[in-house]
Amino acid sequence: MPITGVTVKHYAYCPHIVRLEALGFSERVTEAMYEGQVVEKEKEVGFLLTKYKEVIRKPIYRWRNLVGSPDFVLHAYNYYTPLDVKAGYSTTLDHKYQVLFYAFIMEKLGMNVKEALLYYVRKKKLVKLQYNDDERKFVEKLIKWIREAMEEEVKVAQRKEKCENCNFFPYCRPKKVGRLYYTL
Ligand code: SF4
Repeated sequence: MPITGVTVKHYAYCPHIVRLEALGFSERVTEAMYEGQVVEKEKEVGFLLTKYKEVIRKPIYRWRNLVGSPDFVLHAYNYYTPLDVKAGYSTTLDHKYQVLFYAFIMEKLGMNVKEALLYYVRKKKLVKLQYNDDERKFVEKLIKWIREAMEEEVKVAQRKEKCENCNFFPYCRPKKVGRLYYTL
């Protein structure tokens, strides 16, 4: 089963989602929703795109069983930078993991990657993340953890609010104890 940017995002939210996906459960995202998102994103970061010699829109990169599709890849000199555009206000772990995961795949495909970018639409804020040895090692570990989470059931405890906002709640059916939900 491939590990995609969405898998990485889901793992950061809750490792149990990755297990549910490996068992065949999925979220429904329509093509129309997806297309709409890409058009809006292009408007938001137009000011940035003009600064680069080449902009690659929504490429799909594959290396072994890893698949990454950043919103944009910015090409300047001999560097390539993945850029994801997010609707929210602030940087979250899942956003960071996702864009570093893209940087990792791009590097494996022979591109020279030194940083990754996130743009937050509501705050109009650009966040730069370094991509060097530490980040590369971190992504390697992350991929290993995701593979483990796909392969076997692990007990997870999550905050009530998190489970109640999770699209996988109906498949997961965690047990509520106080303010926490538990799997298994
Ligand atoms: S419902 Fe809760 S425990 Fe289950 S997958 Fe979602 S966040 Fe994880």
